[in-house]
Amino acid sequence: MTKRAYNFNAGPAALPLAVLERAQAEFVDFRGTGMSIMEMSHRGAVYESVHHEAQERLLKLLGITEGYKVLFLQGGASTQFAMLPFNLLTEGKTASYVKTGSWADKALKEAKLIGQTHVAASSEEDKYMRIPDVSRLELPENTAYLHVTSNETIEGTQYQQYPETGSIPLIADMSSDILSRNIDIKQFGMIYAGAQKNLGPSGITVVVAREELVSSSPSTIPTMLRYDTHVKNNSLYNTPPSFSVYMVNEVLKWIEEQGGIDGVERQNREKASLLYQTIDESAGFYQGCVHTDDRSIMNVTFRLQSEELEKKFIKASEEEGFVGLKGHRSVGGLRASIYNAVPYESCRALTDFMDYFRKTNG
Ligand code: PMP
Repeated sequence: MTKRAYNFNAGPAALPLAVLERAQAEFVDFRGTGMSIMEMSHRGAVYESVHHEAQERLLKLLGITEGYKVLFLQGGASTQFAMLPFNLLTEGKTASYVKTGSWADKALKEAKLIGQTHVAASSEEDKYMRIPDVSRLELPENTAYLHVTSNETIEGTQYQQYPETGSIPLIADMSSDILSRNIDIKQFGMIYAGAQKNLGPSGITVVVAREELVSSSPSTIPTMLRYDTHVKNNSLYNTPPSFSVYMVNEVLKWIEEQGGIDGVERQNREKASLLYQTIDESAGFYQGCVHTDDRSIMNVTFRLQSEELEKKFIKASEEEGFVGLKGHRSVGGLRASIYNAVPYESCRALTDFMDYFRKTNG
């Protein structure tokens, strides 16, 4: 049997073993074609059927029946930070952002380069350790869209309730929690996500947007940065990241096999509860970083009493086969990323290790 690490990487992150094995089996001869999916034309019927299948599956899993387009783009979620304002933040308009942490901040910085921005709410004063109150936001009259970061991967916060924006499009960076829980996607004008956490390998970014938002872009924007180019060409204007699209399709099939979003959400909540319970019941040995109500079920961030002890924890965990538990370099501490594909058993092994470490170092 293949030896698999207890993989808590923040992204690229663990993929379902069943998907990796399926890809391995199809690697050199894709469905009897005598070639890998990486070796065939993206204009051929075989690749195109995978491309369309992945788009249809994603819409279905998101619970969308009509009115939205799925785009498969490149350049990571980071490129969306710029592409979004390039396309929607037109002359005379203001883009509103909720500042919840490192990624929201990066998205806002890009928009500032392009046009007028407004910070609608921020938790910066609380060192981003919570999601700010977004229940009564005041947005400028000419607001083009309101941007939120549904899950802050570095700090470990996650929205429980999204703001209501009426006719103003609500746009979410869902890079680190897409397809992890039931959400009414119809409340969003657009969502986007780099694939390398919950959807597949890196190299592909998924955009799901209401048709009217992405069907015509300002004429001055270069071709590849226009949403309408990719809508008109069904994300086949240029060569797509074909292997990544294939992998996303396989991961989506795997989510269906888990019972769809309901199934993965149930597992995700069990995994997150197990970890948070271990933290909360450690009599202060482990301390959760963020406000309890805003805790993420994808990125569990915690600290020990000293940086020295944290270093010791990381070293000891690595010796036991745990990978990726070091917090992001900008905030320190510890972080267990428990995306859809991280098995419950890995989380159980981690909490056993945490109990053992506490007993021997407490
Ligand atoms: N947004 C969030 C919430 C992220 O977690 C990340 C990556 N960790 C990004 C954006 C940037 O994604 P990419 O590396 O695909 O550009």
